[in-house]
Amino acid sequence: MSHIVELLAVGTELLLGNTVNSDAQMLSRELSALGLNVYYHSVVGDNPERLHRSVELARSRADVLITTGGLGPTCDDLTKKVVAQAYGLELEYHPECAAAIRDFFARSGRAMTENNLQQAWLPQGCTILENRWGTAPGCAFQSGAHYVVMLPGPPRECIPMFREEAAPWLARLREGVICSRTLRVFGRGESQVESLLRGRMNALTNPTLAPYAKEGEMELRVTAKADSQAAAQALIAPVEQEVRALLGELIYGTGEDTLERVVLEGMKARGLTLGTAESCTGGLIAKRLTDLPGASAVFRGGVVSYTNQVKAQVLGVPRQLLEEQGAVCADVARAMAQGARRVLGCDAAVSATGVAGPDSDERGNPVGLVYVALAAPEGCWVRKLSLAGASDRRDRVRIMAANHALDMVRRWLAGLEIEKI
Ligand code: ATP
Ligand code: MG
Repeated sequence: MSHIVELLAVGTELLLGNTVNSDAQMLSRELSALGLNVYYHSVVGDNPERLHRSVELARSRADVLITTGGLGPTCDDLTKKVVAQAYGLELEYHPECAAAIRDFFARSGRAMTENNLQQAWLPQGCTILENRWGTAPGCAFQSGAHYVVMLPGPPRECIPMFREEAAPWLARLREGVICSRTLRVFGRGESQVESLLRGRMNALTNPTLAPYAKEGEMELRVTAKADSQAAAQALIAPVEQEVRALLGELIYGTGEDTLERVVLEGMKARGLTLGTAESCTGGLIAKRLTDLPGASAVFRGGVVSYTNQVKAQVLGVPRQLLEEQGAVCADVARAMAQGARRVLGCDAAVSATGVAGPDSDERGNPVGLVYVALAAPEGCWVRKLSLAGASDRRDRVRIMAANHALDMVRRWLAGLEIEKI
């Protein structure tokens, strides 16, 4: 029989929206990799009655309960007490835990208040999950056909404790592994990709194929469940091939790849340098490239030419062109990229000029009209983008413009058509 896991996050701060329930996200990934099915995520505040009801509800629909939070020393930390009660267990004092807590404070040179020893009270007969990243120990126990794991809330304690302490304990439930392969797609929206792949998506059960919309791009995930990693990979491979045959060059990477990483690595491998000339993106392209370690091997610099004066004086965009056509046009985008290439002394340069919004510009150009250009030794290419409509948001227009500029570079590197996608 398959196990069903419920993740129950305890913490009023999560309900108030002060903290994102990132533990649930991370734990879900980890549990999937262990081959365990997570069916429910729930969140409850630091309130004993509601916590009790949440535990009861979880017990009625899942056989593995994993809680996060509320293990600490303060009076709102009541997870252990309430969960133990729900399973008819007493808490017992563990002197070895108390010693570990004292030791943790001694090592960090902080004074320990007595309430910290509350953390040494754990459900009777449980397995203690040692906390080498903080003070509150976690715990795990089996009650009949049910399994319960309690983890601390802070992600820097919760996640390593899960990996190093809880996962080995949960290995007794393992029925196989779940592996995923992520393909990163740029240039088509989720609905377009979905309509291309719908037939296959519906027909597949193991592996499954699912699209996920990301900011300005999308990813496709092929997920397989099998007895071993190798068997799961063998299920994934033919589906990946099929998807690649359908989407071709729209797939720019896999796994943790990003457009900027693909660009940087591609340029680096060829010993090429890159520069930017940015108007509406205000430095976003440069920022994204320099977020990556090792960017200096490729990225020479960028000019944020927000005003026409800077476009003309620094990048050499002809004043007459700016006066006649305004800053938002293909010729200016081209002149900016060529200017950056010359001024910055790089092999290739990208530019972006457009209307990020919220209002159209003084010439009546609509929000979301952006021109991005790439200047390289062999020539200069421009893409005209209409990013308005559903994407009528300043940051979204800028992100999309930066994506397109980066996409042009990766297409140039791959010898693909650059202007059209
Ligand atoms: P502590 O010993 O720090 O009190 P705890 O196990 O009692 O640990 P909580 O008091 O519930 O945990 O939460 C401590 C902090 O951990 C919260 O303020 C929050 O920043 C973070 N945190 C708690 N739960 C989560 C969660 N599910 N996802 C991400 N962060 C969380
Ligand atoms: Mg706490």
